[in-house]
Amino acid sequence: SVPASIASALSSGSRRGLLMKGGAVIEAAAATTHVAFDKTGTLTHGRPRITDVVSVSGSETEVLALAAAVEAGSSHPLAEAILSRAEAAGITSLAASAAKALPGRGVEGVIEGEPAWVGSPRFAEERGVFDDGARQRAASLEKEGKTVVAVFGLSKLVGLIALRDEPREDAARAVKQLKALGVSSVMLTGDNGRTAAAISDGLGIDYRAELMPEDKVAAIREMTSRGHVMMVGDGINDAPALASAHVGVAMGSGTDVALETADAAILRNRVTDVASKIRLSRATMANIR
Ligand code: ADP
Ligand code: MG
Repeated sequence: SVPASIASALSSGSRRGLLMKGGAVIEAAAATTHVAFDKTGTLTHGRPRITDVVSVSGSETEVLALAAAVEAGSSHPLAEAILSRAEAAGITSLAASAAKALPGRGVEGVIEGEPAWVGSPRFAEERGVFDDGARQRAASLEKEGKTVVAVFGLSKLVGLIALRDEPREDAARAVKQLKALGVSSVMLTGDNGRTAAAISDGLGIDYRAELMPEDKVAAIREMTSRGHVMMVGDGINDAPALASAHVGVAMGSGTDVALETADAAILRNRVTDVASKIRLSRATMANIR
């Protein structure tokens, strides 16, 4: 019977770490034509590591010390990487006050009475602090698939920090499996276009870059007008995009907010489980019809 097929798919799925919140989700997942993936923490491990510290007007120690002070209260993956490097190097003497997150851009605060911030190159351009040298240095690091943040404090651009977040080992395979199912994949990211291009190239996936959290929602809405969209994400920023898709899937290592908003979850952090979920849902619907 229909309820029995659905119940058996729900329980066999959950044994494999493929949670789906009910029969309607299985039906929607079976109809998927497009999958939109968040980059950070979904297609990548979400654990960026510092690869380069570039001093512009201060020493590398100053760059890290200022950055760590501004990032101290942030739980962004970039902040965690910067803080752990500063702690390991024993440079945690500076303190920032009034720190606040600028979603999709960076974080800002006050150090020794002066504004200080850490943010994307785009944000540095908006604030008018980039010169040609910094711009070119940032661009060449981004072409290597690195995320670059600019560090500003004491009235000047102090330096740049480049970080790399490696793709998950099975991400390219997942994109291939989806293609074999006739499903197209796109990567959505707030990261710079050059960084996104370098990462997506290795994965064989299309991408849309420099998206603010609200742009991700708009991208999903646009896709839902063309097909049946599954969105896979993990971050707190992804909750609205997950809710806008036909099926929102949370990657298990993500935040509770994403898990609550989502229709479904992948508990084992395997990107290939996205394809397994669609395959299981299609087989279940074929049994019913
Ligand atoms: P993603 O889509 O990769 O999760 P976000 O939307 O979180 O990216 O951030 C987009 C960009 O804004 C980052 O690549 C970075 O340049 C900048 N940014 C955001 N938060 C921070 C932060 N806490 N510290 C430094 N830079 C940040
Ligand atoms: Mg994110």
